[in-house]
Amino acid sequence: MSKIIDGKAVAEKVLAECLEDIQELKNAGVTPGLAVVLVGEDPASKVYVGSKVRKCAELGLHSRKIELPVDASQEDVLAVVNELNDDPLIHGILVQSPPPPQIDEDAIVRAIDPAKDVDGFHPVNVAKLTLEDASGFVPCTPAGCMRLLKEAGVETSGAEAVVIGRSMIVGKPMALLLMSKQGNATVTVAHSRTKELAEVCRRADIIVAAIGMPEFVTADMVKEGAAVIDVGINRVDDSSAKRGYRLVGDVAYDEVAPKCSAITPVPGGVGPMTIAMLISNTIKAAQQSMA
Ligand code: NDP
Repeated sequence: MSKIIDGKAVAEKVLAECLEDIQELKNAGVTPGLAVVLVGEDPASKVYVGSKVRKCAELGLHSRKIELPVDASQEDVLAVVNELNDDPLIHGILVQSPPPPQIDEDAIVRAIDPAKDVDGFHPVNVAKLTLEDASGFVPCTPAGCMRLLKEAGVETSGAEAVVIGRSMIVGKPMALLLMSKQGNATVTVAHSRTKELAEVCRRADIIVAAIGMPEFVTADMVKEGAAVIDVGINRVDDSSAKRGYRLVGDVAYDEVAPKCSAITPVPGGVGPMTIAMLISNTIKAAQQSMA
């Protein structure tokens, strides 16, 4: 019988902890501030940016939303980032991905002050994660996955973990966290060139799926009793749905869930954690700015 990991409930728990930290910071005269930069009109990005800014307001955080037109130049975006780097009221900076094609996203990420890089994508923070230096910022989605495993009581220490996907946003940092002294798992990272993927996955006590392909992980790939974290968010056409589509994960939930000891649903699993960890990173940035 599988335990459904309630990402919304865990995210609320994280945010309740954040509220305590926010109050402490405010008592010390500091209101944590997050700046979100949106370049262009991508509808999904607009939704993500809107929900981040709304969450800041709900929690009493200072926030700035900076919107640049779709034809903004690299220099325009860099000028905004530089201004935010110098703004003492801003502790966290996030440039919403993906920017329009004329923008060199890597260069933008490198321009963000690593002490304000609450997405954890700057090379300094990637290095700190690799070095297990706790002063760094861990990318929000994998940090959220680790917290979900912990809250669900999934033992990572000594476990065989298979991470499917090797992106810098999810797969690689997830593997680093699982193999760190915090996770102590034995980790395999699978990707599009992996041979015998089903066999590799069947070894896993923990599977983290971050592929971007709807319902890719099927029951035959999952060992009885495994814990499954589904990072995927995919739109599939559904004429019976109001919006004409529904969201599914990278895991074929209905057939996989009965085999699992624990599993995250989509939606309501990893998704809500990402924003909670962003707020948590912003608070950490504000705390570290006082040291
Ligand atoms: P990327 O496209 O950057 O990475 C996908 C990874 O999957 C790549 O490493 C790729 O391998 C691998 N892959 C692709 N096809 C296969 C295959 N057939 N077999 C094995 N591996 C394969 O995606 P992201 O990491 O950015 O995102 C992954 C998913 O997570 C998406 O659905 C995204 O929407 C979702 N997501 C959800 C978030 C949340 O808040 N819940 C946050 C971020 C992402 P290769 O490297 O060889 O190409």
